[in-house]
Amino acid sequence: MEVRRTAPVKLVVPDERRDDLHESAQQFLHCANRAAEFCWSDDSYTECVTSNTTARDALYDDLREETNLTANLVQEAIRRAVHATKGCVERWKNGKRVSQPEFTSWSMLYDKRSATFYRNEVSLSTVNGRVECDFELPSDSPTPYERYVLSEEFEFRASTLQYDAVDDEFYFHITTRKDDSEGDGGDHPEGSADTGHQTVLGIDLGVNSLAVSSTGRFWQGDDYDHWCREFEKRRGEMQQRGTQAAHNALLRLGKREDAWRKQYIHTVANELVSEAVEHDCDGIVFEDLTDIRERLPNATWHHVWAFRRLYEYVSYKGPERGVSVEQVEPNYTSQRCSRTDCGSTHEDNRHGEHFECQKCGYEVNADYNGAKNIGLRYAQKRRHRLRSSPKSGGGDAPVDVRMNGGTVNGESHRPIAGD
Ligand SMILES: [Zn+2]
Repeated sequence: MEVRRTAPVKLVVPDERRDDLHESAQQFLHCANRAAEFCWSDDSYTECVTSNTTARDALYDDLREETNLTANLVQEAIRRAVHATKGCVERWKNGKRVSQPEFTSWSMLYDKRSATFYRNEVSLSTVNGRVECDFELPSDSPTPYERYVLSEEFEFRASTLQYDAVDDEFYFHITTRKDDSEGDGGDHPEGSADTGHQTVLGIDLGVNSLAVSSTGRFWQGDDYDHWCREFEKRRGEMQQRGTQAAHNALLRLGKREDAWRKQYIHTVANELVSEAVEHDCDGIVFEDLTDIRERLPNATWHHVWAFRRLYEYVSYKGPERGVSVEQVEPNYTSQRCSRTDCGSTHEDNRHGEHFECQKCGYEVNADYNGAKNIGLRYAQKRRHRLRSSPKSGGGDAPVDVRMNGGTVNGESHRPIAGD
């Protein structure tokens, strides 16, 4: 049994070296997108390239020519694209709609040759030589960094360098691995990994809040709604003018709007995956989006666009950080009481943003209640499958849903790397 841990660490990057990291990330994106293009075929999934060796052999020399990245960063960028393509091919085989993976978020993958660790700092390879960055560690001890990264039991795997544009900070998400196959029954911080027990994060998508997790984190999406309305207003004004200049401006506006929307959803997707990683979740569960228009009559087209993109982005970002992504049928998840000792379903339980169970009186934010139910539905499904095929082995372990003590934290947008 393999145990993985990810510890997010804030980096202190010297001012004069920040541009080197930004330029490296740009070139890393370039490599990943070139590789994704190479791997993809719109015709058939059998024509997509899912072998890392094939992609590397075809692209490595060109990408070294085209960029100033070191060998290992180029290889990690190719690996990322192959990995994403594999994920898409899997979904395609299952009859889901897919498209060529596209990388736009600020994120680079380091392996142990491109990143060297010291007790309080890391040395990172960039387009302009190495940069030494100190760790800014929280004062409580032991920090996740000390527990997992400096621990000899854990072996360093790979780490993702991310940049948070909102507070202009760099974060290093360090992933370590511990091979537990001797079955020493040692003390796992969360106590569940050795039994193959899984923990999932449930996500509810909606109009009141764009996304809510079963841990009680809210992505309100107010600014998303606001800017979508603004863009629409300005589009309307330009269309009325009808001149060639206005037409050109309209095209530019469309491009900007598109880029802005994507960037917004990328940020939410990254934070959502971080929420799962920080809470040691093995999976993220969404509702199936097929009939989302019928289920959410108040949703505008840009809501529906955001839901689909968010699911799509999370389903390739999650696996990169060891988190699987699942979907369940959403039937009655909004009307069911998520209290584990109740579970009563009634159409009068929900009134807009408010949920009040007619049976046990449980009162809670309706979207948060939905998020817990989505996680619970997946857990139920897995338990059912486990019972009907008891010999199915380690792949079908029981599932728990990560929650937040039943209290709602109405704060939206905690920073990416948390406290
Ligand atoms: Zn109830």
